[in-house]
This record gives sequence, C-alpha cells and structure tokens, in this order.
Amino acid sequence: MENQSRNQASKGNVPQPIRFDGAGATDNGPRDIMRDRENPDMLVPPITDSGLIPNLKFSFSDTHMQLNYGGWSREITIRELPIATTLAGVNMRLTPGGVRELHWHQQAEWSFMLLGRARITSVDQDGRNFIADVGPGDLWYFPPGIPHSIQGLDEGCEFLLVFDDGHFSDLNTLSISDWFAHTPKNVLSANFGVPESAFDRIPSEQVYIFQDSIPGSIESQKVQSPYGTIPLSFKHQLMAQASIKTSGGSVRIVDSSNFPISKTIAAALVEIEPGAMRELHWHPNNDEWQYYLSGQGRMTVFAGNGVARTFDYRAGDVGYVPFAFGHYIQNTGNESLWFLEMFKSDRFVDISLNQWMALTPHALVRDNLHVDSELLDALRKEKQPVVKNKE
Ligand code: MN
Ligand code: MN
Repeated sequence: MENQSRNQASKGNVPQPIRFDGAGATDNGPRDIMRDRENPDMLVPPITDSGLIPNLKFSFSDTHMQLNYGGWSREITIRELPIATTLAGVNMRLTPGGVRELHWHQQAEWSFMLLGRARITSVDQDGRNFIADVGPGDLWYFPPGIPHSIQGLDEGCEFLLVFDDGHFSDLNTLSISDWFAHTPKNVLSANFGVPESAFDRIPSEQVYIFQDSIPGSIESQKVQSPYGTIPLSFKHQLMAQASIKTSGGSVRIVDSSNFPISKTIAAALVEIEPGAMRELHWHPNNDEWQYYLSGQGRMTVFAGNGVARTFDYRAGDVGYVPFAFGHYIQNTGNESLWFLEMFKSDRFVDISLNQWMALTPHALVRDNLHVDSELLDALRKEKQPVVKNKE
C-alpha cells in the first residue's frame, strides 16, 4: 500500500511529503494539492532546513479585495504577515479616470508603477506643488503627512504602494471627503468664506476610490503656485536607470543617494535569470520586505543557531527577512525572476558572504571552514549580487 502510493508520487501526478532519502510518508487525507504544488519546499523541505522560523510569506491572492467604482485595492500589513513590522504593502488598480481621492497619512508612501499610467498630485508645507504623470517602472515617494492623489490615465494602471510602517492600512488614512463629512457645515462655510449651501452635495462619508472622467493633458491641468514647484522631485524613473549587470541577472538600486526625497525607503529591483541566484548575503541596516513581480523562486533564510527555512514565491507574493538574517534566492522557473527588495532606510546596503571571505586572510577562512584553495581562488573581492555557475 505504502509502496504503491510512493510509486504514484514518483509519477509526479500528486506531490507527496516524501524526501529523496525516503523520510516522510504519503498524504492521503484532506489536502489542498494546488497549494502543495505552489509550495514544494514547504511540502518537502531541503534537508538543511531546521528549527523554528516564523512565516515569511503572504500572497496578495490571500487578502481582502476592496472593490470600488474606479478601482480596487488589497493590502499586506502586520495583520496578514505579523513579522512584517517595518513596511506594509498595498496593491492597487485604478480604471481609466479612476481616482484614489485626495488624502494624506502619517507614513511615507513609496510606489512602483506596474502597468499603465497615472497622474499624481501633491502640495508641500510651503505651498509648492507637484503634478506629474508616471508610467511602468516609475516610482513616486510622498513624505509623511504630505497630501496627494493618484488618477488612472487612458489605459488605467496598477501599482504597488509601500509604507514605512507595518501597521499602516490604506483603508485608514486621512481623506478629504471624510473630513468634510465630519465637519459642521457652518464651520466649512466660515473656513472657505462661502454660503453653507456650497456644501449641499458633498459626500456623506469617505470616498476612497471613485470613478471620474479621464483627465486632460498635464499642460491643461497645470496649476501655478506662487511658491513654485517642490525642490526635490517626488518621482523617479527606476527602469530608465542603468542597471548593474552581473553574471546571472541585473540590479537597480534606488535610495536617497539617487532619489533624494526617499529618506525612509530604499529598494533594489532585482532580476535573476533562469538557473541563477541572488547570492548569499544579509543587510546590516534593517528587515527586508519583498514583492515578487514575475517568475518564480525560492528563498532560504538562515537565523543562526542551526535554524534555516525555505519558502517558495511567485508573482504577487510578499516575502520578508528579519534584520541581519542570512538569505539567498534561487530562480526555480524557466523565465527571469523579478522582485523588489525594500528596506525602511535611507540607504540600500548589503553584506556579501563571498566578498567578506575574499577580503579576510585566506588562511583564516581555510582553517575556519576546512576548504581548500579551489574555493579561496574563486572568491570575489567585488560584489556580484546575482550569480550563475558557468557550465
Ligand atoms: Mn497615500
Ligand atoms: Mn536581501
């Protein structure tokens, strides 16, 4: 019976929790085979995995969808992924003309445009304004407390928003319609110097997202501020930036050194080619929050004291790495794996295991690890964030 089941497993029809050395047994009870197929390294963990690492994965597909006329949003916050204290993420779609209403919040907002185009607007504390159009591969950053809006252009858009606080919820921001609805009409009348009747038709509650008509050209919407425009752009064209090419992919780094307004969020857009991996490394500044854009891969996280755990990721998933934990990411598919590494920090920084060893006395490395000159000669003094074995 058991042998029969094992033979079935080896046919590859249904994955079974049986390791290559025979450990484990078939799972014949209630199970979600689709999920098991998506998580092969949880069903059959690598033999080097050990110990207790909390969950480091959450998929946007497992979140509540907020549906509105004009678009949708869903989010991964500390509610969904409790370990993710530093950053929270929101995936949002706006239809052509759809508007994320005028609002602000206590957290900084960093965003990556996935598809389509949008018009973003903002005004800072000195009355300097900012109106810009953003397209695929562009970023924006709104500092904490600075009011803003987003509107889908001709083809609509979809984007990822990242906030520098895991407790953030996009459904709990300060919205203009909400404040109007909760301010007495006589106060609104006194504030703006118009009769109360001017507010007869204001929304009775927070709007959040609404359907509007597609706005005209950016020139036609221009508003001249007597104080000029903001001095540090809220927009950055990440995909237009030259990438660091490596033997197994590419990396684009964006932080306050090349996007000066982005003082609390740093990011790397990483491409890992088929058969390649993001090298063994860690980050000496903060936790890492990841968003997988395309392809599929797996990440193993090392926590010290014999503890390591592997997770499988694909487009639309969020991953997380606690501060300073060692990790690497392998492309497990046959197309390039693209993902964002994000940090609550003004700088992107990482420590390469390879470079550390290369710049340490080799006799010490040799005697510590019992490795021979073949490895010592292969060590690289220059960082190679994504590597591929030449074969
Ligand atoms: Mn916002
Ligand atoms: Mn990393």
